[in-house]
Amino acid sequence: MSDRLEVFMFPCLSDNYGYLIHDPIQNLTASIDTPDVHAIEEALNQNNWELDYIINTHHHYDHAGGNLELKKKTNCKVIGPMQDKDRIPGIDQTIEHAEEFMFGSFVVKGFHTPGHTTGHMVYHFESQNVAFVGDTIFVMGCGRLFEGTPQQMLESLDLIMSWPDETLLYCAHEYTQTNAEFAITVDGKNKDLLNRKAEVEDMRKDLIPTVPTTLNLEKKTNPFLRSDDQEIRLELGMLKSTRTEVFAEIRNRKDQF
Ligand code: ZN
Ligand code: FE
Repeated sequence: MSDRLEVFMFPCLSDNYGYLIHDPIQNLTASIDTPDVHAIEEALNQNNWELDYIINTHHHYDHAGGNLELKKKTNCKVIGPMQDKDRIPGIDQTIEHAEEFMFGSFVVKGFHTPGHTTGHMVYHFESQNVAFVGDTIFVMGCGRLFEGTPQQMLESLDLIMSWPDETLLYCAHEYTQTNAEFAITVDGKNKDLLNRKAEVEDMRKDLIPTVPTTLNLEKKTNPFLRSDDQEIRLELGMLKSTRTEVFAEIRNRKDQF
């Protein structure tokens, strides 16, 4: 028996990924967010796991919409960000920024990453080199700024960038192909980006998930992590602008893409 955290990933809704995580030592299971009750129940059955926890990243319906039904059916406990406690249905335990808690045998650290929503939280299993990042960062993209400011989102992404390069990032959506198409409009000379774009196009032809990604790959190809990059700045005509200004411009262009 392995003593690693097990991650079971499944596509659901139109472009979401659901995640069950499992501690084989204590036989505990959590669902990261609750995009689709039926898909989560199927995933539980398939693995012969029972739901003990829901761990929420943010309040949006495709992330917390299944909380109450699953809680009612399984009596699981709902864990979520302190900052979103009034908007996460059925929340039992709140996590503050940089707070550590245990999922079975594993230490998890929650980080408040405002931007997409004001209460968004990401969960880092440092010993496993794994993080669940919700709608904060995507493959070659980042979450839309529904509630937060560019400054906040940039700080949230900077926090994620401080983790080890090999960290596996489990994002909540498969937006990769559109993200890549946008990315080349601001970073079209980036060889790593061009190669990766071709790679993900091949993968998506066979409906292979492009998630998880690694932080290392994102640093090389995700324009939202590259507001320092001279080529991007040149392309945008923003050589002297601040990182926040460059980030805001890239986000703005993506919104209109
Ligand atoms: Zn969302
Ligand atoms: Fe979402």
